[in-house]
Amino acid sequence: MKARLPESSLPMKALSPLQPAPDTCRIINGLSVDVEDWFQVGAFEDVIERDDWGGLDDRVERNVREILDLFDEAQASATFFTLGWVARRHGPLLREIVDRGHEIASHGWDHARVHRLTREQFAEDIRKARMAIEDASGVVVKGYRAPSFSIDHRTPWAFMELAEQGYAYSSSVAPVTHDHYGWPDAPRFAFKPLPWEELVEIPVTTALFAGRRMAAGGGGFFRVLPYAFSRWAIRQVNRVDQRPAIFYFHPWEIDPGQPRVATAPLKSRLRHYTNLDRMADKLRQLVRDFAFGRMDVLAHREKLRIEAEEAPALAVTA
Ligand SMILES: [Zn+2]
Repeated sequence: MKARLPESSLPMKALSPLQPAPDTCRIINGLSVDVEDWFQVGAFEDVIERDDWGGLDDRVERNVREILDLFDEAQASATFFTLGWVARRHGPLLREIVDRGHEIASHGWDHARVHRLTREQFAEDIRKARMAIEDASGVVVKGYRAPSFSIDHRTPWAFMELAEQGYAYSSSVAPVTHDHYGWPDAPRFAFKPLPWEELVEIPVTTALFAGRRMAAGGGGFFRVLPYAFSRWAIRQVNRVDQRPAIFYFHPWEIDPGQPRVATAPLKSRLRHYTNLDRMADKLRQLVRDFAFGRMDVLAHREKLRIEAEEAPALAVTA
């Protein structure tokens, strides 16, 4: 079973970047779904009012069920970063996600970007979301993903707030330049943003191409570009960087039948609607080609690795 490879089967450090890793040496990558509906995406936030959400075609449940079936086929487990707003309306769906072996984590309350909130508003947002998600799912929330990867240099207090509220990990940073988000100076791989705290940040995957970082962790890039690019990028991260890749997508991305938002800017529409009908097949290919697992398991492993790497340095300075 893909997601159950023992630790001892991970590639050794000495593997040459030029030498292809044998299939038995597969790293378990992080698989994640940002559970929000088609009308809650950042691209439409200026044309669809939050107050109108309740009256729109609710498609998240059928889309998540299709994703659960797709993951079952591949025996892949994943983390579902869910909006509190969705959790409050879809309790049975959250329990089904848990029952089928996946992790439930938080994607905030209503997709407000972190850098547009004050620390107090952020604290309230993640508290309210967590309560709704825990009530609906019956399990403890350990992980958080900021809407639109909106933790960056403008929000130094965000990690402090997450640590204070007891989160084990966050996957909220895109260490890349992008028109909607990005923190290009952030580390590419898991790090402890506050060295004295347990909290681990696991940035979404980037690949190095001609010395430049490229977004390669899913979302629109995965859907719009040929699959070969994502396969190359994840292989690059696994074999050359020897690290797990972090992949994400959204339930609406496998739903060609969703309503069209004609008033959104052309660029947003192009990004949102391209290749929706091909996404499910691409995902099937992806989960066949790579080993994937839950983010909480990956976060724990990364925390141990960071602490092991830090330990000798501490001993020297003591
Ligand atoms: Zn989102």
